[in-house]
Amino acid sequence: RAYNFNAGPAALPLEVLQQGQEEFINFADSGMSIMEMSHRSAIYEEVHNEAQSLLRELLGIPDSYKVLLLQGGASTQFAMVPMNLLPAGKVGAYVMTGSWAEKAIKEAQLFGETAVAASSETDKFNRIPDLSTIQIPANAAYLHVTSNETIEGTQYKAFPETGDLTLIGDMSSDIMSRPVNVSQFGMIYAGAQKNLGPSGVTIVIAREDLVAASPKSVPTMLRYDTHVKNNSLYNTPPSFSVYLAGLMLKWVKGKGGVAAIEQINRDKTKLIYDRIDQSGGFYRGFADPSSRSDMNITFRIHTEELEKRFVQESEHHGFVGLKGHRSVGGLRASTYNAVPVESCRALAEFMSDFQKRNG
Ligand code: PLP
Repeated sequence: RAYNFNAGPAALPLEVLQQGQEEFINFADSGMSIMEMSHRSAIYEEVHNEAQSLLRELLGIPDSYKVLLLQGGASTQFAMVPMNLLPAGKVGAYVMTGSWAEKAIKEAQLFGETAVAASSETDKFNRIPDLSTIQIPANAAYLHVTSNETIEGTQYKAFPETGDLTLIGDMSSDIMSRPVNVSQFGMIYAGAQKNLGPSGVTIVIAREDLVAASPKSVPTMLRYDTHVKNNSLYNTPPSFSVYLAGLMLKWVKGKGGVAAIEQINRDKTKLIYDRIDQSGGFYRGFADPSSRSDMNITFRIHTEELEKRFVQESEHHGFVGLKGHRSVGGLRASTYNAVPVESCRALAEFMSDFQKRNG
């Protein structure tokens, strides 16, 4: 298997892939693949409901929240949030932490009034803004945060306390990587393709009252209430992705749940951050240490020439996905839940070796 550090779609656990392979052609002795089955069948419904209840169990989602399994990726949520939750006369407030927060606010601007509640743009988004600098307009409908900026490699260590104001979190790149107090949020959403399985399914966790009734003008598929009323089975769901997400959630449970996974993730990233910090400046972390992500490690070498060589050589040694995002350059190692510690150890060793040869 490759040392897969892709940012998304990302590595899946070998055990999950193997179980998927075993059941691929004949699921639950049905003589059919799960993807060939009616989404109204009892077998599929069980898979669908089990994925939802595993999400509830692992994240400790209160009963007063709905768990939706949608399509369209987190990018569709950038639009659905304001379409459903930003009425005229109210303001959607956003914390600008980087590339994904920018995309989220841009979509909201198509539907209503927005405000930047805090920003780290002047620091090139190398950190999460100090929470004490967040300024929320009096007529805000919600505050939106991006829990982990996948491209810049920054991550909130604590979330703003917003009292009665709805807090909405895009957790696409760190959901299920650490415990989260769901009740602090009105809504959490995430594309699945980093920590929850393959692409194709998007998770929305929302407090019941927020998604009970959407404005009349919103199209059927983009209304939260459509999916709430139909248990996310209004139309054909991404059944194979939901099934694999279920396997992935069972895998997380088998590891001891999200608290155990968090420790494993920290141990993994420490191997690589230590290598950066102990390199005497050969490697430079992009993110301010206070905001470093345990999912995406972004770093640079002092010339682009060396960065290019690093990527090329890493590929010859079986590493995949270490080139930084085209918008920020440099290097990035994404260490999602399914990336084994052995891959991180191998990368740390490769980094040392590369420095010896080029330092
Ligand atoms: N938000 C974050 C933080 C992401 O990392 C991504 C994708 O990488 C997205 C949103 C967009 O997700 P999708 O591709 O599912 O639309």
